[in-house]
Formats: sequence, structure tokens, C-alpha cells
Amino acid sequence: MDEIESAKVESIASSLRKIVGEEFVSAALFERIVSAEDTYPYMLREEEVPYAVVMPGFKEEISKILKFANKENVPVFVRGSASQLAGSTRPHTHGIILSINRLNKMKIFEDYNFFECEPGCVVGKVAEEIGRLGYFLPIHPGSQAFARIGGTVCNNTSAHLVDTSIGKMGDYIMGVEVVLPNGDIMETGTKGMRRPAGTDLTKFFVGGDGLLGVITKMRMRLLPDFNHAYAAVYYSNVRSLAQGVQRLYYEKRPMPLMMELMDEKTAKVGFEVKGLPPPPGAVTIFDSIGYSKEDAERRRDLVLQSLKAENPLEVEVIEDMDRWRALWATREVISSFLSQSSGMQWKSAEVIPNLKYLPDAAEECEHFNQGLPICGSLQNYLYGHIGAVSLHPGILVPRDWDGEMQRAAYTELFEREAELTLKYGGCGGEWGQFSKRKSFFVRRYGEVGYEFVKSIKKAIDPNNILNPGILEGYR
Ligand SMILES: Cc1cc2nc3c(=O)[nH]c(=O)nc-3n(C[C@H](O)[C@H](O)[C@H](O)COP(=O)(O)OP(=O)(O)OC[C@H]3O[C@@H](n4cnc5c(N)ncnc54)[C@H](O)[C@@H]3O)c2cc1C
Repeated sequence: MDEIESAKVESIASSLRKIVGEEFVSAALFERIVSAEDTYPYMLREEEVPYAVVMPGFKEEISKILKFANKENVPVFVRGSASQLAGSTRPHTHGIILSINRLNKMKIFEDYNFFECEPGCVVGKVAEEIGRLGYFLPIHPGSQAFARIGGTVCNNTSAHLVDTSIGKMGDYIMGVEVVLPNGDIMETGTKGMRRPAGTDLTKFFVGGDGLLGVITKMRMRLLPDFNHAYAAVYYSNVRSLAQGVQRLYYEKRPMPLMMELMDEKTAKVGFEVKGLPPPPGAVTIFDSIGYSKEDAERRRDLVLQSLKAENPLEVEVIEDMDRWRALWATREVISSFLSQSSGMQWKSAEVIPNLKYLPDAAEECEHFNQGLPICGSLQNYLYGHIGAVSLHPGILVPRDWDGEMQRAAYTELFEREAELTLKYGGCGGEWGQFSKRKSFFVRRYGEVGYEFVKSIKKAIDPNNILNPGILEGYR
């Protein structure tokens, strides 16, 4: 940074210190850099290094920060654990990084049948807290040990959970508290059991891609936990497995809570890392739920009836929880296993076909990178939330590729993702709709759809202060 920029760093940091106190602002170069990086391995460009990192503890402080940012025309980038996978957390110009991680309080109101929590709460911890009282958190990303509630609310992702089983997390969010880009504070939704009919302001923020406000609290209905019954089914190929999943829908089966896929090559890596004998083929593992043990088992058996019709190699009914946990781990942390076992960087895409074309899409995703100029020669793997008709093909990128080459490779993957999702008729179900997916959005919904979102953003955030870059889709 030149002299003028250094003076700006000092002046912005000093103004932020007056708002949140000395200890919650950093202008140290190291911290500014690490607080702007995300899951992508390539380094920040100079123009992406932020001026300062601020860690407010209260909504009133966030309001003051946003008022200051508007006055000075400095962008503000909101950040939880920065584990979002489509590039939304990485800034693309100088600005202020606003970490929400000190907002981490939660309170359970059993007599009202909801809980409230702040955006910095870690997803897995929230699940644990309400789990102790017999409730289930309808959010289950593979990153739950570190992802924060704020990030999941912005993307409305329930991740491993099958949408058609219990819905998406947004279906349980009764309201949020937000600081708007101009600093105004607003509460949405209800504390009653009946959800608002007509205009529900909550919907602008849940799944709002972090464009319209900083979420400082969410209120979620308490969902009683279920009884569970588990199974694994192995096939000689992913087409038969995908046809089995199609049958669940066509034969009107009760959809499992979670239902995952690994192709044979991927499953072999996961099984080996967990010290299990190699699987006989592609595998699906699933978790059926019910109001009693018998009810859950009855539902599992109905699912198995459909899956068996596609001639699996092996059907494994799982009663032993250690066995289930080991199998689940092979899938849940497969992305880390793939990176660890290869010494390369795993990068997946998310292809969402419609139900009719699931078998074709699954087969094509086994060769996802075929013919790509940069990534075509790399190893391709396939896993996914198959019950939710969601596929994660991906590749291992060498760590010694230079930064610009890696950026280009990741852009190529998102282009391929867009091409296949358009071909098969779905849309992104987990990592938001913009950032590296902007070109998909424009192709899918046209300039009219894109202008619609842009005009809402402009009305609420005329100076484009909050999270600029997400809607523009910078590379
Ligand atoms: C190993 C691994 C496994 C993963 N598995 C899954 C998975 O199974 N399913 C899935 O969907 N995702 C998965 N993810 C992606 C990621 O964990 C989720 O998208 C998660 O929701 C992001 O949470 P975060 O705290 O990291 O948010 P961040 O990345 O910090 O933020 C995400 C976006 O939300 C905005 N934001 C965050 N908090 C707020 C707030 N309070 N107000 C306004 N805007 C805000 C940010 O500006 C950013 O645009 C995985 C990631 C990894 C690394």
C-alpha cells in the first residue's frame, strides 16, 4: 500500500476504535490479510487487502460502523468463519472486515417453543445445546464444527438434510434482527407459532446472500428430535443408485432425513482413511426418521424396498451406532480426506439436476472435468446429497500451481457447474446464488431477474457499502 493508503488505514482504524474499543480493532497487516482469506488456496491480490478488521459485540456498534462506512464511502465485508464455498467471503476491494464472531449468545425459550441465537454461534454447538433438551437443529453442513449460524442463514442452507424430508432451515426461522446497510436496526417475523402470511420481511434476509443487512440475531422454532433407523446400499454403478433414489419419489416413499452418495472411487478413499475394508461399489448411506423406533424402521424398510428394485450388490441394515458413525464419517469429511490423502487441494462443484434426469446427471458428473482446458487432466471424484438430488463432483488441484492458474481453474469449475445445472434444470442449493455463480444466475433468470435483485440492493444500499462484490460476481 502507498503512503495515502497507509494514512487511510490509520484513520479508519482509529474511527473504528472509538466505536468498539481499542482491543476489538486490528490494523496489523498480518491480521488484515488472514481475515480476508477464505477456503480458496490462492493469495489475496494487493487491492483485496482490507484497511482494518473490526469485531463488534453489539448491534448498536454495528449500526455505528455502517453509518461511519456510508459517510466515508468505505465497503464493509461481513465475515463468520469464511468457509462459504462460492467466494462470497473474500473481499475484492479495500474495505473493512466486520467479524460477527463476538456475537455468540444463545437463549432457549421452551415455553415459547423457540430459541434465539446470534450469528457468531457455531452451528455444531447450537445443535448440541438444543440436542440436550431433545430438539433437532435443521442445519447440518459438513462444516458444522466451525461454520457460524450467520453464514448458514445468509445462504439458507440445510446442507446434508434432504429438503423434501423436513424442509430447509428457513422454514423454521421465525424472524431475524438485522442492521440495515444505512445503520437502521429492524426486527422481522413473529414470536407466535403462526408464520406471517403475505409480506414476511424475514424472507429478504434468510437466503439473502448477505446483500441487504447484517443479521444480528435469528429466532428458530424448536423441532423435536426424531427416532432414527440407518442403512447402507452398494451398487455396481452410480446410474443404478440414482435410479433407486428416483424410485423413492415415484413410489411415494418417506424421504430419509439424510441420504448421501459416494461413487466407488471416492468411497474407497473415505473407507481407507477410516480403516474400513473397501466398499464393493458406489454407496448410498441414509438415515430414516420416525416418531418411534418402529416407525423409523418401518420407513427405512420402505426406502429399502425401492432401492432393492435396482439390483444392488449389497444391502446393509445398520443397528450398531459405531458402524453408522464410522460410515457417516467416511462421507461427512470426505473433502478433507481427499485433500489429506493426495496432498492436493480439493475443490468441489454443486450440480443440481431435476429429478427426471438424476441418473444422466450422476453419470455425467463422474466425468465432470472431461474436456476442460485447465482441469481436464486432474482426478475427478463424486459425492453428494443424493436424497436431495444434489451432486458434488470435484477435482484435486495441485498446490504448486501458481495463484492465477488456480483462480482460472476454479472459475472453469464454476462455469462447468453452471453448464450442467442449466442442462439438467436445477439451481444452486447450498452456497448462495451469486459470487462465482453470478453468470449462472444471469443465464438462468435473464437480465430481468438480475436487474430485479440489483434494484432491491440499490434501494436498500444505495452506496453499495455492504458486501460489494457478491452481486457483481468478481473473480
Ligand atoms: C469442509 C467444508 C464442508 C462444508 N460442507 C457444507 C455442506 O455440507 N453444505 C453447505 O451448504 N455448505 C458447506 N460448506 C460451506 C460453508 O461451511 C457454509 O456455507 C456455511 O454456511 C458458511 O458459514 P460461515 O460462518 O463460514 O460463513 P462465511 O463464509 O463467513 O459467510 C458466508 C456469507 O454470509 C455472509 N454473512 C455471514 N454472516 C453474516 C451476517 N451475520 N449478516 C450478514 N451476512 C453474513 C458473509 O458476508 C458471506 O457472504 C462447507 C465448507 C467446508 C470448508
